[in-house]
Amino acid sequence: MIFRELGKTREKIPAVGLGTWAIGGGMIEDSSRDDEGLEALRLGLDLGMTMIDTAEMYGAGHSEEIVARVLKDWRKPVYLASKVSASHFAYDDVLRSAQKSLDRLRVKTMDLYQLHWPNSQIPITETMRAMEKLVRDGLTRHIGVSNFSVDQMKAAQSALSRETIVSNQVEYSLVDRSIEDDVLPYCQKEGLAVIAYSPLGQGKIPRGRGGPFKVLDEVAVSHGKSRSQVALNWVLRKDSVVTIPKALDKGHVKENAEVVGWTLNGGELEKLDKAFPLL
Ligand code: NAP
Repeated sequence: MIFRELGKTREKIPAVGLGTWAIGGGMIEDSSRDDEGLEALRLGLDLGMTMIDTAEMYGAGHSEEIVARVLKDWRKPVYLASKVSASHFAYDDVLRSAQKSLDRLRVKTMDLYQLHWPNSQIPITETMRAMEKLVRDGLTRHIGVSNFSVDQMKAAQSALSRETIVSNQVEYSLVDRSIEDDVLPYCQKEGLAVIAYSPLGQGKIPRGRGGPFKVLDEVAVSHGKSRSQVALNWVLRKDSVVTIPKALDKGHVKENAEVVGWTLNGGELEKLDKAFPLL
């Protein structure tokens, strides 16, 4: 695994971490695949993907409970990130949500606590006051945002009196390159890490058929890699990006751990750019 700096924190996080949406359920709790989820996360950690991203929303908290079960037997460092839902951005709600997440995760502190989606109904100053209290009280070490536009990142940073936003978690993959317009350049300029979610287009990339996917397959064959591995390597071609694919299948987990340590050459990047244009 290779490690990249989380924003300007001088802390290193793995370029590939572990997403947990649908591990423990999606919008509602689903325990039917808990064992598979536990095994996939344990394997991912063993293979060096030592950042876990979860959220209070995932499986209505059950995802965090599964992460806790994994961490119970894990003795080495893990970078632990969770998120507060946009409906909980009022001051007291943020504090309550964070404590509930910590209780479910069975830890005293998180490394990164993120605002899951922007919420224009609640002043960002109020939400950020609560986030700074969490840092002051040692409940999270860093503050991040997710799905924030450039203007929303600026407003969120201005609302903070002492802390700095270290990351923006946003969708980024060959099939959704929209952050290249402004969010990615802004994060690069300001030194925020981009945590790329849905890097496999929620499965659209491994399943895709037709023209662009043929190009992807050609590149994959020339490297002796799968198309998903090429797609993840492509996301990581920018230094400020780390990514968090989600995989329940153990073969997928193994593949995802092997997407770094090799690079796509200029000609291949050009071919992929043409096949999967920025729309
Ligand atoms: P994703 O990682 O792009 O795709 C997941 C799908 O790809 C699953 O069906 C998985 O199958 C499959 N897959 C994984 N690795 C594969 C491989 N090597 N070969 C073939 N198929 C593979 O989508 P995602 O779950 O939406 O995104 C990842 C994580 O980002 C989430 O789990 C979550 O933590 C985070 N996220 C955050 C937000 C946000 O608003 N902040 C939104 C969406 C997602 P199996 O499970 O069967 O292995």
